[in-house]
Amino acid sequence: MSYDVFEDDKLHDECGVVGIFLNKKSDSSAKKEYKAYSAKDFNAATLAYYALYALQHRGQESAGIAISDGKEMKLHKGKGSTAEVFNQENLESLTGNIACAHVRYATAGNKSPENAQPMMQGTKLGDIAVAHNGQLVNYEQLREMLEESGCTFQCNSDTEVILKLIARSYKKGLERALIDTIQMIKGSFSLVIMTDDCVIGARDPNGIRPLCLGEVDGGWMLASESCAFDALNGNFVRDIKPGEIVMINKEGVTSYEFGEKTSKHTCVFEYVYFARPDSIMDGIPVNVARERMGACLAKESGVPADVVIGVPDSGLSAAQGYAKATGIPYASGLIKNRYIGRTFIAPTQRERENMVFVKLNAVRSVVDGKRVVVIDDSIVRGTTSRRLVQILRRAGAKEVHFRIASPPVKFPCYFGIDTPTRNELISNKHNVAEICKEIGADTLAFISAKGMLEACRECNPEAFGFCEGCFTGVYPMSVPGEIHGKKL
Ligand code: AMP
Repeated sequence: MSYDVFEDDKLHDECGVVGIFLNKKSDSSAKKEYKAYSAKDFNAATLAYYALYALQHRGQESAGIAISDGKEMKLHKGKGSTAEVFNQENLESLTGNIACAHVRYATAGNKSPENAQPMMQGTKLGDIAVAHNGQLVNYEQLREMLEESGCTFQCNSDTEVILKLIARSYKKGLERALIDTIQMIKGSFSLVIMTDDCVIGARDPNGIRPLCLGEVDGGWMLASESCAFDALNGNFVRDIKPGEIVMINKEGVTSYEFGEKTSKHTCVFEYVYFARPDSIMDGIPVNVARERMGACLAKESGVPADVVIGVPDSGLSAAQGYAKATGIPYASGLIKNRYIGRTFIAPTQRERENMVFVKLNAVRSVVDGKRVVVIDDSIVRGTTSRRLVQILRRAGAKEVHFRIASPPVKFPCYFGIDTPTRNELISNKHNVAEICKEIGADTLAFISAKGMLEACRECNPEAFGFCEGCFTGVYPMSVPGEIHGKKL
């Protein structure tokens, strides 16, 4: 991920990462449908390309694939979505059995093409490519240290710092260089690193961002979310543990723990908003967690109504959970235009507000003359909810009751979720009654933090602890200008 200026209190990019290692011949007993791909298609770059499609929701600003055939490494990356960056020609030029790939999210003012990933560099250990999801909190210190020792940088990305640190430690060999680097970097990181002959996955000691291991016909795969394995008709094997490095080469998969004390602070916003509902993360099916959040909202702040609707896509599961818990009929009352990206891509407030009209519309026959409960996953700036109330009233809704499947977002994220500046966060400045008035709803309620966490834990009692810094301002480690604390 990449930086403007850290102190600007501006949150930065989310991403999706992929690693592929093909080492076996295609298994003839493998699922039949998979055989629809020809031998030519059975290339790590093609698989990485499909996987990036599956992870496209994690980033649409840039996409890239680095590939190795064991001798040479090649890279193609650019601005835009997977479909915009890749075509038959450039994909065919990427031949090899090992891939490292990345999709990156847009943030205003931070779109320079040099920040696209994977980042690749020739080192004394051979070529290395790195794809990173997360954000380092000690980026500035590390960069300063590297610059003092003579390193030069192409861009303002913390991923480049990781690459330089690995390159610098080459004398001790790859494994040691990796472990040393990973022990120096602090913050959130799910990394996929590729050398000429292996692919490596690493997850930070708090397990803030997701990373999992899967098996595809012919080899192994790493991905931010399990939905990427399904897209390749592969199998989920397991989540990478916090503080674990897995090295995949022709010998198979080797796991290392990088010594540091690990704890469990998975980002709860992944379950609330960011992840795809068909993914399973750390044993928690995202869709089920969201349904439970909806049921919890019904318990905590139910309201008499005629119909329950959800804001597509991330509000739908919670709306279904709410409807099931209350017995109020669920209907598709809002339709999303599938052909535009996420609203945050519009850089100005006015553009963002008008984009909501383009992005979402109400189904008059569902809401006309009705008392409507509308469920969304979160309120950040308040842009979407303000416009949605207008859209629903315009379509004849008699009452609009907003229910939100996460607590008020009051604090920035320093670990890789793109939230706006603190001043722009509506809940940082206003209480629930004021926000309700501001968005023009009849009533408004947010789920409690306890309810949200329980919804996740109920899905997997062994589930990790969570980072809820954006709701509480309490982060799993020190971040500049914020409180470092542990919730009891
Ligand atoms: P807002 O309109 O600013 O209140 O943003 C809330 C909407 O944006 C919700 O409907 C979410 O689905 C979505 N959202 C929440 N967090 C993010 C994020 N980090 N990036 C992009 N969209 C988000």
